[in-house]
Amino acid sequence: MQEIVRRADRCRVCGRDDWLDVVSFGETPLAGDFLPPDAPPGAERRAPLEVAVCRGCRLMSLRHVVDPEALFGHYRYVSSESDLIMNHMRRLVADAGLDAGDLVVEFGSNTGVHLELFRRAGMRVVGVDPARNLAEIANGRGVETVAEPFTATVGARVAARHGRAAMVLGRQCFAHIHDVHEVLDGVNAVLDPAGVLAVEVPYLVELLASDEFDTIFHEHLSYFSLGTLRTLFGMHGLRVVDVRTAPVHGGSIVVYAAPRASARDERPAVARMLAREDELGLSGDGPYLEFARRTETARAEIGDLVRSLAAEGRTVAGYGAPAKGSTLLNACGLTSEHVRFCTDTTALKQGRLMPGSRVPIVAPEEGLARRPDYFLLLAWNYADEIIGRERAYLEAGGRFIVPVPRPRVVSAPSAVAAP
Ligand SMILES: [Zn+2]
Repeated sequence: MQEIVRRADRCRVCGRDDWLDVVSFGETPLAGDFLPPDAPPGAERRAPLEVAVCRGCRLMSLRHVVDPEALFGHYRYVSSESDLIMNHMRRLVADAGLDAGDLVVEFGSNTGVHLELFRRAGMRVVGVDPARNLAEIANGRGVETVAEPFTATVGARVAARHGRAAMVLGRQCFAHIHDVHEVLDGVNAVLDPAGVLAVEVPYLVELLASDEFDTIFHEHLSYFSLGTLRTLFGMHGLRVVDVRTAPVHGGSIVVYAAPRASARDERPAVARMLAREDELGLSGDGPYLEFARRTETARAEIGDLVRSLAAEGRTVAGYGAPAKGSTLLNACGLTSEHVRFCTDTTALKQGRLMPGSRVPIVAPEEGLARRPDYFLLLAWNYADEIIGRERAYLEAGGRFIVPVPRPRVVSAPSAVAAP
């Protein structure tokens, strides 16, 4: 791993080297490394997974950076098309206030499924994504996509070809990027002076409040508060003008920023959220250290619950095989001995093994047909949607374990189930 992982001494936002250590998961397999079934022992690529907070700008960050090519060159996370995400995206499109013909540039555009919504609303769209396999899918569906990391050079090239963008969008990818300054140079190279940058990130406050420790994995380098994003954007002449919460990926925020000279007013939601972050004490050490303590408790509780069910002869399977499921299984010491299989709708993952835990991944129909006694809801961010959809499984006596923030068992009130 020496060649693909390095320790980052300086904070990627403010450049300081003054850290508060928060949580360490030790040497952990890369969460996206779904293995072929015949992978020899030790085939997983591993790297230290340690979280710290910068005492300068309060960025919560991993201490180690894995080479993006190793993580994203061939990426198996395909943008969700769940109702929850698609409804959220439609709202983003409606709220954007763009006119037909306006240019929307999205970095980290994945398979282009979300840009397609803007295109259907009449906008011109260009995607940028370093994962060649995903860019190929996007181009195939007619969403022009550049298969490169987003930089000033790429931004300038898009601007030369298509003109300036009324909106630059980065959804759920900003936290994956080490050189955030280079991306913001890319934004400035293509954004119209009257345009707006919209960045959606999982919200640090939600992560801390709901103990979402499993969202910590090598791809997620940064865990942002609004305050830290404001500092970062300010370094690039961008002023935060609005912020909205979104019920996706465990609780996210969409932060809107505009060039400093832009006429856009700052909406009251910005000052409100900054004040709340102050009240929560995010500028001190307390909230992070308390999160670390609760994380240790949750790891033990989830692991004990699943191991004891397995020891009683109950079958437990994973529902979903997201990257955070890899963190959860490994952090809780669970393997294929305790969790027999995981289901996942992503064809690219089916037939493979979760890294580290080596739990095999099967198609959802196959998993349901095997009728496990319990489904451990690894995709807990879709808990309501999934539990609503799987009434038949529950009515037949099946149960869900929702692991986060504290493990709880969900069964149908009317079901006659084994204890
Ligand atoms: Zn910093």
